[in-house]
Amino acid sequence: MPKRDYYEVLGVPRDADADTIKKAYRRAALDCHPDRNPGDHTCEERFKDVSEAYQVLSDPQKRELYDHYGHDGLSGAGYTGFTGVEDIFDHFEDVFSDFFGFGGSFRRGRPRRQAPRPGRDIRKTVNLTLREAAFGTTKTVHLGRPGPCPDCGGSGARRGTSPETCGTCRGRGQVAHSRGAFVLTTSCGDCGGTGVRIPEPCARCEGGGQVLEEREIEVAFPPGIDDGVSIRILGEGSPGTMGGPPGNLLVTAGIEPDPVFKRDGDDLVVALPLAFARAALGATVRVPTLEGETELEIPPGTQPHENFRLPGLGVPHLRGRGRGDLVVVVTLTVPRKLSRKQKKLLTTMLEEEETEE
Ligand SMILES: [Zn+2]
Ligand SMILES: [Zn+2]
Repeated sequence: MPKRDYYEVLGVPRDADADTIKKAYRRAALDCHPDRNPGDHTCEERFKDVSEAYQVLSDPQKRELYDHYGHDGLSGAGYTGFTGVEDIFDHFEDVFSDFFGFGGSFRRGRPRRQAPRPGRDIRKTVNLTLREAAFGTTKTVHLGRPGPCPDCGGSGARRGTSPETCGTCRGRGQVAHSRGAFVLTTSCGDCGGTGVRIPEPCARCEGGGQVLEEREIEVAFPPGIDDGVSIRILGEGSPGTMGGPPGNLLVTAGIEPDPVFKRDGDDLVVALPLAFARAALGATVRVPTLEGETELEIPPGTQPHENFRLPGLGVPHLRGRGRGDLVVVVTLTVPRKLSRKQKKLLTTMLEEEETEE
């Protein structure tokens, strides 16, 4: 069938200006809009025709090509027109909103069930001791992950039956309601917007198409991992729908407080209680490390809160080589009870200190 003249299709003269063309398209598009004439193929064809004509005549370059060489000029330049109604809505989304003031709702609902959607991420927290976090460890994570139902293969329909296209929305997932001259679309209530109806639901998944799969996943925590840091395991999240990719599993390290060490970045802080006489006289003391113990020389006259840094005895750096430090902080202990002898010695000492002043 030979193509009709675009000016004729829109009913405008060959010298019509842009505004006249736009107005003509607006009238025609409103008149034969598929949302207002559902199932009317003559209307749909006309809608396609006027849209194609408008696309050419509203574009100065295409219009010139058409004026000089006709339809052959356009196809020769690689212009192919629209593939269908959805294509027109995609193309003229802004035009329709310009026309009607609420383009998004005028736009006909795309069948939602056809859109691939990625699955959601699953988040888990695993508790680690400070030592496990420092040296790295592997933990088993138990997941109740939604997966396709094995009985129905994920369709939600009982074995031997199959899902049907929803009759109410004819598979579009959305239905049109007339509001005076306009048509509003809303999600179809009969199929929940999926465009599909399941006549006999699968007993195992109750028609949802998904069941919880019990899964165990080994998660390796690298040495030096800090509290709140997550390990991402690609593709172990919830499955995608309609061929969409699965989400990821994110496992967060929750590091339990340690009775001995406090973590400060990659440094470890440990308190060293000393009798004040020891601090005054100096001493060799044993301090705890992640691996066991080490000796530390406390010089005479050490003050409360003074700290000593032991390099390389902290937490391994998560990125790069080496380790943080062990920081030993001195605290002084004061006896609550004194023997008579101790009291005498301390009094003597005090008297001597005060004489010196
Ligand atoms: Zn099932
Ligand atoms: Zn429906």
